[in-house]
Amino acid sequence: MTRAPALFIGHGSPMNAIEDNDFARGWAAVTKRFPKPRAIVVVSAHWVTEGVRVTSNAHPRTIHDFGRSFPQALFDVQYPAPGDPDLARSITRRLSTYGAQLDETWGLDHGTWSILVHMYPGADIPVLQVSLDARRDPQQHYEIGRALAALRDENILVLASGNIVHNLRAFFTNDQSGKTVAQAFESYIDDAVLKSDHTAIVNYKQHPAAGEAAPDWDHFTPVIYGLAFHRDGEQPELFNRHVSTGISMTSIAYGLAA
Ligand code: ZN
Repeated sequence: MTRAPALFIGHGSPMNAIEDNDFARGWAAVTKRFPKPRAIVVVSAHWVTEGVRVTSNAHPRTIHDFGRSFPQALFDVQYPAPGDPDLARSITRRLSTYGAQLDETWGLDHGTWSILVHMYPGADIPVLQVSLDARRDPQQHYEIGRALAALRDENILVLASGNIVHNLRAFFTNDQSGKTVAQAFESYIDDAVLKSDHTAIVNYKQHPAAGEAAPDWDHFTPVIYGLAFHRDGEQPELFNRHVSTGISMTSIAYGLAA
């Protein structure tokens, strides 16, 4: 059986879904480097729950989880990928230590579909989401990610969607000091990824710039999942490298063919 790669994707603005920009092209290009997976399991910054939840809908809805200030064209986007209830049950069993439960209330949020519309525009691969449990600390998120990593051996793509740097207040002020802070934090994370120093990333709050660069735990925690998906011997690859005040779009891949 083919082992699927693992991805952390910096998703940024929902507008990336309907723009033809370098980030969207980078997401599409990465899919050309590995065989089509049989399913995709996403941990998105935009689904935070009390307890671990796994979407079990046969037909997950497309959730437009952003404000009315965005254009109608973004609200018109649908991503009608099927779900996979059997796989959802298998994942809850795999995560039973963490009390994981099936969920039919959620669907696919923009942390998932704004990326997948570019990666797999045909929406013909089953997609599931696993929530971020607000009660867990970074080490526990890492352990949940390790448990999910085994799915890769069933040709299931595991994908975490967030942002290494995410501070929207800083993003909208766009000043130079914010850029310096973002670059310092990004360098720390990028170096740790390339050295596979997972401890440095699980303990990211110790970095002096973390409070300003990564104040939103929901957007940073998917980085921890991305690392947890790493298997021994795999060379990390950074792509879509971009950092500016309040946002980083840098993404990480493991297990891509050279
Ligand atoms: Zn987001």
